[in-house]
Amino acid sequence: MILMLGVNNVFKKICSRCVNLSYSSTKNDRWQCPYCLKDLQFERAFHIDHKINYVAISQRLEQLRGIGVYKSQMR
Ligand SMILES: [Zn+2]
Repeated sequence: MILMLGVNNVFKKICSRCVNLSYSSTKNDRWQCPYCLKDLQFERAFHIDHKINYVAISQRLEQLRGIGVYKSQMR
């Protein structure tokens, strides 16, 4: 599992030409699609909060671990 602690500002853009996703730590700098090289500077940027994702993922992992323990005790 990759922990992205300390990386709170990550932005995602969807290329309007090739529909691939690209990621950046800032939405104001020049932004070029890494796949088709289209200039994405004025495309809409979506903010990604890794902190929230990390908590949600770790809660889900705890649930799965609990289910595993429960199942092993039922045998
Ligand atoms: Zn593209």
